[in-house]
Amino acid sequence: MTDFSGKAALVVGGSRGIGAAIVRRLAADGAAVTFSYSGATDAAHALATETGARAVRSDAADRDAVIGLVAEAGPIDILVVNAGVLVFGDPLEQEADVVDRMLDINIRAPYHAAVEAARRMPDNGRIIFIGSTNGDRIPFEGGAAYALTKSAIQGLTRGLARDFGARGITVNTVQPGPTDTDMNPGDGPMKDFMHTFMAIKRHAHPEEVAGMVAYLAGPEAGIVTGALHTIDGGFAA
Ligand code: NDP
Repeated sequence: MTDFSGKAALVVGGSRGIGAAIVRRLAADGAAVTFSYSGATDAAHALATETGARAVRSDAADRDAVIGLVAEAGPIDILVVNAGVLVFGDPLEQEADVVDRMLDINIRAPYHAAVEAARRMPDNGRIIFIGSTNGDRIPFEGGAAYALTKSAIQGLTRGLARDFGARGITVNTVQPGPTDTDMNPGDGPMKDFMHTFMAIKRHAHPEEVAGMVAYLAGPEAGIVTGALHTIDGGFAA
């Protein structure tokens, strides 16, 4: 457990999966948590009731909505940008609009959320992106556009760490591997294929990823910045 009492946290995309585990962990450790969602209204309301966090409907594909969400949240000590979508497929067959929407959610939203948060963030704040091990390694076909989005987050992390370092604000990316969520179910048809690339052949639990986020958000990680933190069972090893 980390003591986040007195800290305000915003989790962009927190209704389900890894984001929901992060909301639970930060709230359990004492933070005042706001989280956004776009479609899973019932899950968001249930999570808000369970944790005491505040749920706000806001589409991460909409730049103005992202900036408005962050501005409305006020000064944030901890920003976690988790919202993400996964579109796999043959690049010669994929619909351009579907790919572009993924670029909006996975790349543009983290950029604008982080910049807007930094305008009001107190010194020694925390910005944490949820990237993917696929930013480092994409060992199968059909993942070029998704890998592009997660590699982009790596450059964003390094650059913003330089921009905000003088204020003690750290900027880091957590890079999960296969993690048991709606996006990538641990009992889904792809599980055995995914596990062939891993040293520890199981999906991560979302709570394990949330634990790494809690470390990076906490006081022990004040000198950790501009870095990629892979939690993938050896997928990229
Ligand atoms: P899920 O699909 O299970 O959950 C995605 C979350 O993001 C939901 O809370 C969803 O909310 C939110 N979200 C999606 N689109 C939007 C949007 N347009 N606006 C606001 N919120 C949105 O995914 P995971 O939990 O598995 O993934 C979370 C992150 O982790 C993503 O960035 C993903 O790329 C990354 N990741 C996941 C891995 C895995 O194996 N699961 C592996 C590596 C990285 P709602 O449904 O309410 O819109």
